[in-house]
Amino acid sequence: MTNHDPSVARITPDDLTQLNATLERLPSLELIKWSHSRFGKRLGVLSAMQKAGCALCQMVAELGLQDDIEIVFVDTGVNYWETLDTIERVKKEYGLKVLSLHPEFTMAEQILREGILYLDPEGQKKCCNLRKKAPLKQIMGRYDALLSSLRRGSGGNRAEIPVLALDTELNLIRIHPLLNMNNDDLEKYIEEKDVIINPLHAQGYPTVSCNRCTTPVLPGEPERAGRWRHLENAAVYCNINPTDRARVGDNSDFVELGVDVVGRILDFQI
Ligand code: SF4
Repeated sequence: MTNHDPSVARITPDDLTQLNATLERLPSLELIKWSHSRFGKRLGVLSAMQKAGCALCQMVAELGLQDDIEIVFVDTGVNYWETLDTIERVKKEYGLKVLSLHPEFTMAEQILREGILYLDPEGQKKCCNLRKKAPLKQIMGRYDALLSSLRRGSGGNRAEIPVLALDTELNLIRIHPLLNMNNDDLEKYIEEKDVIINPLHAQGYPTVSCNRCTTPVLPGEPERAGRWRHLENAAVYCNINPTDRARVGDNSDFVELGVDVVGRILDFQI
């Protein structure tokens, strides 16, 4: 397909290869600074208010970027109160703006319309689409890039995430500034900086999502064993992150951003 609009330019996975190799050398805070210098107010942070996402919020606040970078939270309407309380603390103590996105229907309305979807694997996919992926689409056009807290140390599909990845569904760049932090690095950072933490982590929840589909884990279980336990972990991810999906883009994929933005990204050298 030919691009006819002269005000936008296309970025493909190939375009990012060299840039990702260069950006690999930068620590987390430098990657956030680089992102802000390239995208300015067209940069957001996607956080589910889990441990790493809270560390990312703290870093944005530490860099004094509260006026430019807002936090995006997908509120499925069935979050634990501890997660909602963590948002309030992040707003108050870090001075961050939080954009909460909501599904079209409450969970009660959804159950009346569709039944209890999250009780079987096919229904779970539909429920995650309705309550997570669809609300996130409300940000289309608002940002050119989103920071998120995915880390290679989480394993699975995340073991080889790049610094920058294309999100063709939202037409923006996903940036992973924490990708090289392992669990020990993260815990050390949280302790040193006294990062606000979701209280559920201290109650046996290594990861946190909707209250319908997240349980604590037992000692020795994998970190994500508490996610969709009732489905025997048939789902590993909700697929809100493009790099979690089975197919990570090939070179027919692209996003289109303003020519000035694309120039600022691709001309970068250190
Ligand atoms: S995690 Fe469970 S309740 Fe939440 S959106 Fe996905 S299936 Fe629905």
